[in-house]
Amino acid sequence: MRPAGQRPGDEDRARQDGPDRFVLPVGELPTRGPISTDMPVPAVAVAVGAHPDDIDFGCGATLAKWAAHGCVTHHVVMTDGSKGTWDPRVDTTALVTTRRHEQERAAAILGSSSVTFLDNVDGELASDATQRRALCEVIRRLRPTVVLGHDPWRRYRLHPDHRHAGWITVDAVVAARDPLFFPDTTEPAHRPDAILLFEADDPNHIESIAPFLDAKIEALMAHESQHRSTMGIDSSEAGEATAAFYRAVERQAAEHGALASLDKGEAFHRLACS
Ligand SMILES: [Zn+2]
Repeated sequence: MRPAGQRPGDEDRARQDGPDRFVLPVGELPTRGPISTDMPVPAVAVAVGAHPDDIDFGCGATLAKWAAHGCVTHHVVMTDGSKGTWDPRVDTTALVTTRRHEQERAAAILGSSSVTFLDNVDGELASDATQRRALCEVIRRLRPTVVLGHDPWRRYRLHPDHRHAGWITVDAVVAARDPLFFPDTTEPAHRPDAILLFEADDPNHIESIAPFLDAKIEALMAHESQHRSTMGIDSSEAGEATAAFYRAVERQAAEHGALASLDKGEAFHRLACS
């Protein structure tokens, strides 16, 4: 029996289904299709990241492209980033404040309309009902056409917050779309059209980003507190290290784009929600 609210095609099979094929809710074999590119610009997009900077690494250029074409984009950051340093003597309260401002600057560079900080303690995120409810409320309030987030099925992903943020994202989409999940939220149920999972274990969708790679790099550089620990940029060798970081971002974009014979891209696993 199909779970309440679930429809044929809820799983990652929808793109393969012909109009005359009835899809059972359980037991269908996974299917592979050609890699798709450049979905229609959504009206509203919500990107969810574990830490300040994750969204900008994972889908910053796609968000910049969509915003430039009229999409209303939003950042949602699950944790406070309070462990994002190699300095054990750091004032973590000050670090949290710094990282909030950096994320707000980066989001503005990408044309994002808002940043929601859910303020969980960095490193202690749990994919539980409390977190699902919190993100479900955000999705019902912002009513995105597309939700972007970490791929929870990415193998060998070491950081627990990335795994948990991925689960919370996909589970919160299910909760947001079905009215009997968290029925006492302020806003009614909302079903996005699609989820795009970045750091994808099995990429099946590429967004072309060539004109927007510079905006992505500028947004990443706004995370100044992360230059040393995440980007390998030490103040003593800033010029060469910064150039090396730029080359790394450009190389990754070229590798992602090459999956679909594009010049530069961001790769995702695309899931249908309907
Ligand atoms: Zn992270």
